[in-house]
Amino acid sequence: MIRKLLRRVFRRPQASAAEALREPAIIGPGQHGIARDAISPAARKVCEVLQGAGHHGYVVGGAVRDLIAGFRPKDYDIATSATPEQVKDLFRRARIIGRRFRIVHVMIGAETLEVSTFRALHDNGTQTDEHGRVLHDNVFGSQAEDATRRDFTINALYYNPGDQTVIDYHHGVADLRQKTLRMIGDPRQRYREDPIRMLRAVRMAAKLGLAIDPAAREPIREMSGLLENVPPARLFDEMLKLLLSGHAVPCLTQLRDEGLHHGLLPLLDVIMEQPLGERFVWLSLANTDERVGAGKAVSPAFLFATLLWHEVLAHWESRKSRDEPTMAALHAAMGDVLDAQCEKLAITRRIAGDVKEIWALQPRFEARSGRRPLRLLEQPRFRAGYDFLLLRAQSGELPMEMPQWWERFANSDAEARLEMLEPDKTPRRRRRPRRSSGDGADRDAGTQAAHAPAQDT
Ligand code: ATP
Ligand code: MG
Repeated sequence: MIRKLLRRVFRRPQASAAEALREPAIIGPGQHGIARDAISPAARKVCEVLQGAGHHGYVVGGAVRDLIAGFRPKDYDIATSATPEQVKDLFRRARIIGRRFRIVHVMIGAETLEVSTFRALHDNGTQTDEHGRVLHDNVFGSQAEDATRRDFTINALYYNPGDQTVIDYHHGVADLRQKTLRMIGDPRQRYREDPIRMLRAVRMAAKLGLAIDPAAREPIREMSGLLENVPPARLFDEMLKLLLSGHAVPCLTQLRDEGLHHGLLPLLDVIMEQPLGERFVWLSLANTDERVGAGKAVSPAFLFATLLWHEVLAHWESRKSRDEPTMAALHAAMGDVLDAQCEKLAITRRIAGDVKEIWALQPRFEARSGRRPLRLLEQPRFRAGYDFLLLRAQSGELPMEMPQWWERFANSDAEARLEMLEPDKTPRRRRRPRRSSGDGADRDAGTQAAHAPAQDT
């Protein structure tokens, strides 16, 4: 008794360790409501194979949470007592990935499942940076410890396809029913360990329509600066998850309502502070949400192109006012904006390249004479450029007549297209003596635009 008391006193800083020893609630199908066949066959199979080999194997995290809340899971995470090597050996198509957090990707049919070994709680030996951010998380532990190490109570639910029970260590099912997002452990400490959890809180709450428990909500405002120490690539991944979650509008609205859009992420500041572009940005986000909801593909490049467009416009205008030539000014403006974002957000080179292409096509939609419109139609990026133009028009930046003309043009046959073309308005160039007949003047002007995207900015 005395020993127990002493232990409790001396272990007080690690209250979460004691918490980890609590008994979980075992919740049957009648209460949690997950139908057995709602779980993907691949996830069931992985659990079965793990259990058949004498390990624990549970569906965990987002899928269990989403199924209880009535959403279709986006993907499946599996938690197991087997080590990554043991998992890898049990499946034909499996590979170990990650450094900070080693997990196994198991491929079954078209699905990839993330299988992670139960993690132990952090202790004094855990490696952190000077702000308390955990750098490695590869010490394995019990299921109870694993549950306590997860971020929110609703994410610490383990579903066993074998007996269809949900194992709930932290009252996650009750919190989900009460529409509360509650952090496991002390929110401040958990944000210090991993500042990304602040963004996850907002994303999960917005997606599931939950209220963030005040203890978890209040520190975000004062701690958001810690996000600056997170590696940009991780920040970018999380930002993409937020924007492509299908709930970007409620996510960003929630961020703004809570005053969290300032300083949380550089991109958010840009998005939220564009008085002129506001309508455009919200339209584009709503459009993306709708596409995700309908199961259509969404391109991160298109999204980033829309989010940053009014920044580009502002830089472009200011450069033109300093007498820089139009196209050169546009390319320099694109560089200004992307450089500022890439530094913090690690927008990959490929995405940045695609974003630039979409932007660089925009002035080319203004030409309606000669061969230029036909050449634009042949561009592999025409569709993305056109969709972008349409959004610009819908937001009031351009007359709707412009995308309408292009839609008709694209859907017409060769003869009708010729009739739609306007007379060339470049008499000066046309008059220039040329050896060959034909449309040299057009080609000149078109080439300038066509080559423009390749310019180094
Ligand atoms: P979704 O996949 O729908 O975005 P998710 O909750 O499944 O949501 P994942 O990133 O797939 O998110 O993570 C799977 C699980 O791993 C989470 O449910 C949570 O239990 C745990 N987890 C993920 N990220 C963290 C984190 N930063 N800190 C603590 N636990 C985390
Ligand atoms: Mg997940």
